[in-house]
Formats: sequence, C-alpha cells, structure tokens
Amino acid sequence: MAPDGQTIAPPAAPNVHDAESIPDAARAEIDRLLTSGDLFRYTAPADAPVALLEAEFAALMGSRYALAVSSCSAALFLSLKALDLPRGAKVLIPAFTFAAVPSSVVHAGCVPVLVEVGDNYRVDMADFAAKLPGADAVMISHMRGHTSDMDAIMALCDAAGVPVIEDAAHSLGTVWGGRKIGTIGKVGCFSFQSYKLVNAGEGGILITDDPEVAARAIIMSGAYEENWKKHPGLGNSCAHWQNRLPLYNLRMQNLSAAVIRPQLPLVAERVVKGRANHDAVAAVLNASPWLAVPEALGPEDRAPDSIQFNLAGGWSDDEARAFQSAAKARGVSVQVFGLSQGNARAFWNWQFLGDPPDLPQTRAMLMRACDVRLPTRLSAAELDFIASAVVAAAVEVKG
Ligand SMILES: *Cc1c(COP(=O)(O)O)cnc(C)c1O
Repeated sequence: MAPDGQTIAPPAAPNVHDAESIPDAARAEIDRLLTSGDLFRYTAPADAPVALLEAEFAALMGSRYALAVSSCSAALFLSLKALDLPRGAKVLIPAFTFAAVPSSVVHAGCVPVLVEVGDNYRVDMADFAAKLPGADAVMISHMRGHTSDMDAIMALCDAAGVPVIEDAAHSLGTVWGGRKIGTIGKVGCFSFQSYKLVNAGEGGILITDDPEVAARAIIMSGAYEENWKKHPGLGNSCAHWQNRLPLYNLRMQNLSAAVIRPQLPLVAERVVKGRANHDAVAAVLNASPWLAVPEALGPEDRAPDSIQFNLAGGWSDDEARAFQSAAKARGVSVQVFGLSQGNARAFWNWQFLGDPPDLPQTRAMLMRACDVRLPTRLSAAELDFIASAVVAAAVEVKG
C-alpha cells in the first residue's frame, strides 16, 4: 500500500509476444495495390513489388540473385530441388533446429541425417566430420541466429565437393568473419514469418551467386511459360529449364513485398538494438551461478531477437519445470526446449522421421536450454524486468 492508501500496481511484464509493427510507408503502397488489384507478381510488365524486393534484397546481401517465395521452408525445399539431388540423397542437418528443416528435406525426397549439437547450440564438428562421408548435401541451420563454425564446415564440404545450403531463417543481419550469413554456402534462405527480424506474417527468400541454381529455383517456384523473363540476367539458363522442371507454385505475392520492402532499411538498426538488448540481459543472467549464456564463436556477430541460456550447476527436470513456472508467475515466459510438450525444436518430436536417432549430446542440451523472446523494441526497463524475473525464478528454485 502507498502512504495515501492506494495500491501500487506492480510494473507490468513486457509484452514479448507481439511481432514488430509495420512501418507507415507500407500503407500507401498497399492502398495502391488494393485499388489496382495488382497482387500477382507476374502481372506488371516490370518493377512489380516482388521483383523490386528481390533486387533490393540481393543488393543488401551483396549476392547476384534473389528469389522471393512463400516461406523460408519453401526456399529450403526449392534449394534442395535446385541442386538436382538424386531421390533418397542424404542431407546433413543439425539436430537442434525447427521441424520445418527436416520437413523440407523429406518434402524434397531426400533423407535427413541429424548431426549432434553441443551445449553452445552449435554443430559438433567431430560428429559432423564423421557423418559427412556419404552425404550429398548439407543444410546448416543457424538456429536462433547461433552460427556454427562455418570455416570448418566449408573447408570439409569444399574438400568433399558437397554443397552447403544455409538456413538463415533467423539470421538476417548476422555476420561471420566479415561475411554476411546466408552468403557463405551455395544458397542462403531467409524467413519473413512474424517472429523473425522482418515481419510479413509469412514469406521467404533465397539468395545465390550460382546462375543455374537460381534459374532452376525460379522455374520451380512457378515462373511458368515465359514469366522467367521478369527475372534479370538468367535468360539462357531459364530458357533451357522451362517445361523441363515441375512447377511447385511457391511464389510470393505483391502485398507481402509491400510489407517487407519498407522494413529492409530498418534491419541495420534492429540488428544493433537486438545485440545491445541481448548483451544487457546476458550480463545479468551470467552473474547468476545457476544460469549460463554460452559464448559465441570468435568470428560471429549475431543479430539476436531472443536469448538462449542453459540451466547450469546441476538441475533436475522437476527443478527446471519449477523454474519455468516461477518465471511465468513473474510474467516472463521461459521455454525449456526439451521440456515443453511437443516442442517443434526437439528432434524426438519429429515423428515423421520414424524412431528418433540416439543423440545424447543434443538431448542433454535441449533438456536444459532455455528460450526467451527479446523483441528489438523493448526498453531498458523492460529488459531489466525480464532479466530480474529470470534470475529471481532461478534463485527461488535453487536458493
Ligand atoms: C522460422 C524458421 C524456419 C521456417 O521459416 P518459415 O518462413 O516459417 O517457413 C526455418 N528454420 C529456422 C531456423 C527458423 O527459425
């Protein structure tokens, strides 16, 4: 009670559920599209919003070609199809990723091979090197933006002649040794789903410097008849592949591009803000003996919009569950990947693959790794609220 007898409301827990709001600049363009009805990317003779987005995204990333599609999952699927892998080809993926990744491999008629991930959320290079012989492709998922050792991965894959696809769904803005994530492998795939750095509800894009991969992906995305002529610089390759490849119709529509384009100039500041937010919360959590935010590998500069940390110093499953409840009671939603029922990021829930493989390292990590969203819009006070609630919840359980 305050001295005047009124109840002081406790500070409200910040809303971390909502996505980024859409810049006002999108409104005029959306109005124009609604009035003209010009929603299909291939109706306008030139300069459709989707085509402009592709040009702008390729320029932003410094890559030769970009193809906007309906989701990052669609981009991952098309990348595998564009590599022309034989049916049943083995594709290495990290065992810590989102279910959409093994799903895209299955969708492309390939077989995912799961690679162990350490308690720093990065691919275990010994297991990777052991499983690479016999693999036809590698799909590296930079889960939550955490970057595995891309130097070691590229050296092994280049020596073996195995193409690398980067699942950079959640890594827009992350840099590895001065190179933009998504430009290191043969193809990079990004998501514009609402919980990523650029919010279009749904959407994805793939980038590549390889004209054959780009042409094949363009045709299969649904550039039927001579619509591929609206993709610059690929005339000969696209003419060759027209009618020789199936059409999967995974195109992006103009309304999505209108929502995405005004957000691209905001990416750089969202990256800076996200990194500062993450590091502020990480410093508070790392001061607790019960919580540990793993160090990034040296060459990584990440663009986080969430934080992951491990329950450290010996926790039982029941204590970890009690910690989740104690944080929730303080208004902060903490997800322990392996403890939340049916979590799509826990490999043993991917029942469509059959019996789960034996991956003790990844399993142990998932049972103690925690996930908290930190949208870049949060204020210092809100970040403080979240960090204090998480630490207090750990203290409540572990004393
Ligand atoms: C979100 C996400 C995906 C899937 O992206 P969609 O655009 O929803 O298909 C794939 N991989 C990772 C690592 C993701 O975070």
